Amino acid sequence: MYDSARREVVPFEPLRAGHVGMYNCGPTVYDWQHIGNLYAYVVADVARRTFEYAGYEVRQVMNITDVGHIVGDVDEGQDKMELAARRERKDPQQLATMYTERFFEDRRKLNIQAPHVVSKATEHIPQMIALIEALLAKGHAYAAADGVYYDVTTFPGYGTRLNAELPEERQAGARIEVNPNKRHAYDFALWRAAKPGDLQQWDSPWGRGNPGWHIECSAMSMAYLGETFDIHSGGEDHLFPHHECEIAQSEGATGRPFVRYWMHVRFLQVDGRGMHKSIGNTYLVSDLEAKGFDPLAFRLLGLNSGYRKPLNFTWRGLEDEQRRLDRWRSAIAGAALAAKATAPAGDDAVRQAFVAAIGDDFNTPRALAVAEDAVALLSSPERADRSRGLGLLFDIDRVLGLGLESWCEGATAVDDAARALLAERQAARAAGDYARSDKLRDELRERGYLVKDTKEGQRWERVPARTKRNS
Ligand SMILES: [Zn+2]
Repeated sequence: MYDSARREVVPFEPLRAGHVGMYNCGPTVYDWQHIGNLYAYVVADVARRTFEYAGYEVRQVMNITDVGHIVGDVDEGQDKMELAARRERKDPQQLATMYTERFFEDRRKLNIQAPHVVSKATEHIPQMIALIEALLAKGHAYAAADGVYYDVTTFPGYGTRLNAELPEERQAGARIEVNPNKRHAYDFALWRAAKPGDLQQWDSPWGRGNPGWHIECSAMSMAYLGETFDIHSGGEDHLFPHHECEIAQSEGATGRPFVRYWMHVRFLQVDGRGMHKSIGNTYLVSDLEAKGFDPLAFRLLGLNSGYRKPLNFTWRGLEDEQRRLDRWRSAIAGAALAAKATAPAGDDAVRQAFVAAIGDDFNTPRALAVAEDAVALLSSPERADRSRGLGLLFDIDRVLGLGLESWCEGATAVDDAARALLAERQAARAAGDYARSDKLRDELRERGYLVKDTKEGQRWERVPARTKRNS
């Protein structure tokens, strides 16, 4: 896998044999998460599934930022939760709960597995305070009139560990107003003294206040995964300052390496441009659904792009992936009616090609091309090929996460009444009573079974039931 710290693809070696500890920077729950935000969690989900497929036991932790994320990521703005709470006239906790639930609904629609631990920042204030105390004791932090700051000059290489050179426009005075309480322009807040009217504030050794965004992730990742853990992921926007700050905080406090592999997802663009509320191109999962798309078509679009180059979202691209999804499902349903999936052999060439693809830095575009080879087997005249194709596809889908096997179960399940009608229709056809057979086909269609006649007899697939029209 590619490691943003070493800036190259390196073999993955776990800290503890057979185990993977993984932390994903979670959402700031002050608003809906658009598809660009959600895409980063699709990528993290594929990474987790890849390790599970390879036999690792994964512990996945994701935070929920429900305090402390400042607009513009610099220290001088306003807290996003605070602003949104005022905008929507809600208590920040109510707001956080509402948007967290919506986020999880969208995750389910995209078949993103729930992390083993979902940690809310507001429930880990004591861990953050303890970490700040450790940094103060080691001389990495200082208390000022308006909070506690990290002194970046005490941490060699600050800002350069993840290939994110300090951008020039962020030099002191150029763009941000330098707070006179800071010793250096790049020093960042670990704790902010409460301002009058702050809706979220806690007691601390430095008076009432609230934590900085960066300290949340350091405190919560180490609380659940230990001082050193395997993988930390986030969007490319997290490279600087967020992840550089996390490294400085964690390694400054523990004196140990923090993260072994850093994984960063490139942004989603719309028609080749960034997503911005002002352009009106920030789409939600519900926008895709309103246009008749299955959210999993969006998952496929992401898989077909690969996480290390920007994902270009276009409606045409989404249509292509919806067609692919429909084509796969129809081929699966057709094959599954007359063949049972057989688990792929260890030396199966298609399976080996898939393992090579996904093991090459999660190369999902290549993995999809391999999956097409499995789909092609589904239309083979040989039943053994169809069985192998199904087995391969269900196996591969443990990583792709399109829910193909459970979809297939639903699509091929037949209730007793339909089973009787199908048997009756088969008998009618055998007896040459085609008028009766056609009538039964219509009846089955109304019940949600689309029947087709093939050389091997009748096949069916599940479709939405429709009510009888009066004519
Ligand atoms: Zn984070």
